[in-house]
Amino acid sequence: QEQVNHMRNKLGISVWGSDIPPPVDNFDKVVECGVSLVMVNNLRNQGYQEPTPVQAQAWPLLLQGRDLLAAAPTGSGKTAGFVVPMLHQLGGPQRRGFRALILTPTRELARQIHRECGRLAEGLGIRATVITNVNKARAKYGPQSAKKIDVLVTTPNRLVYLLRESDDGPPLSLDNVEMLVVDESDRLFEEGGGKGGGFRDQLAEIYRACTHPAVIRAFFSATHSHQVQQWCATNLNNPAMINVGVRNT
Ligand code: ADP
Ligand code: MG
Repeated sequence: QEQVNHMRNKLGISVWGSDIPPPVDNFDKVVECGVSLVMVNNLRNQGYQEPTPVQAQAWPLLLQGRDLLAAAPTGSGKTAGFVVPMLHQLGGPQRRGFRALILTPTRELARQIHRECGRLAEGLGIRATVITNVNKARAKYGPQSAKKIDVLVTTPNRLVYLLRESDDGPPLSLDNVEMLVVDESDRLFEEGGGKGGGFRDQLAEIYRACTHPAVIRAFFSATHSHQVQQWCATNLNNPAMINVGVRNT
């Protein structure tokens, strides 16, 4: 345990919650956690040499299926922090429709996350999509046609709109979602009552649509936010909370 504390100190990681596994500070340990060599090679092919601190602590938690709130500075590799365990959870393509959902505040961020999914899913057969046009989306993601896409990346506004019944077609289904990620959750929670109501209301609606009994939920933020922490403490299942600060070298 002392060794684990020392490693966390060195990486600038603070943790809260019961039974937090040790950080995985190199790719060999990531493979030992069960992540496929294909994916680890995809990480290496990006030029990554080792997990960043937030990845080192978030990966073993999410790979165990634990609910998580993670705060780490901008540029610390949070995207791969949730994409790697998400792809692991999905395993391969299943043609059962969306099995993972990533919410993010802007369309540009959604596109960036979608690109990173593509790079890290190389050779896994898992497909991701971004909703760009809500009017075309119903036809595109209706019950039949969305079957071959496993990951949906979107802003909450667009998604909430598509979850509602409409003359244009059936609502989009989130019944098979096994993992829900809220990226930049501090920013999303700060956004007050926009068009679709405040983010809290939107999140509640999205939650209700994710009917799978064992959804893994991961919240990532750049800053430690009291609001988000309160929400997670109340609504998540035995969440782990991690905070990454400045590296203590
Ligand atoms: P954040 O979401 O925390 O702001 P990003 O996920 O956008 O950060 O990552 C920032 C940059 O770090 C990206 O260019 C990404 O490719 C790179 N990166 C991610 N993981 C690693 C890693 N393990 N080693 C080196 N660079 C990484
Ligand atoms: Mg980010």
